[in-house]
Amino acid sequence: MYATLLADARVHELLLTIDRDLADSCRAEGCRACGGRLHSARYPRKPRGRPKTLAGRLGPEHDRRFSFCCAVDGCRGRETPASLRFLGRRVYLAAIVVLIAILQNGATDARMERLSEIVRVDRRTVGRWRRWWREGLTATAFWQSARAAFMPPVDHAVLPASLIERFAGGDAGGLVALLRFFGPITGGAGMQAR
Ligand SMILES: [Zn+2]
Repeated sequence: MYATLLADARVHELLLTIDRDLADSCRAEGCRACGGRLHSARYPRKPRGRPKTLAGRLGPEHDRRFSFCCAVDGCRGRETPASLRFLGRRVYLAAIVVLIAILQNGATDARMERLSEIVRVDRRTVGRWRRWWREGLTATAFWQSARAAFMPPVDHAVLPASLIERFAGGDAGGLVALLRFFGPITGGAGMQAR
């Protein structure tokens, strides 16, 4: 099951989208040493746990880790945001499983605790991801035309759970099917509730 999940390019696009969001929040906070502005200083890095079958199917941005350095002269401040892509294979799977549960059923204390043991993510950030499914996604032109395909209509108040359950029963396989369906937007749109 999870081998299938990791073999799907869309799952990696989703992870990149999440990482981009974590990087944006990190950058917005500025340098922790002096409060200065942060400049992008990404560096090349191969994620672990990516199946060989995906070789050549993901863009070069998948092999770069987000990182920032302080723009202030004399400050050597460097910030590297949390990432879901550069975890070891086992924790990486664990993170995805918890994340799916949170997106489907909400950020309970227990789930947040499990997630934060794996990757540095706070409740506010997860709240923003869930809002993206409810407000960001539903505002896209893609969703405006795609929603008509669902009968009965998808309940926006409980997205993404209400969508995942339409695809193969609400487990991880359902998430892959959902991401496949969302192919046109998962690559670049970002999860920020802009
Ligand atoms: Zn600084």
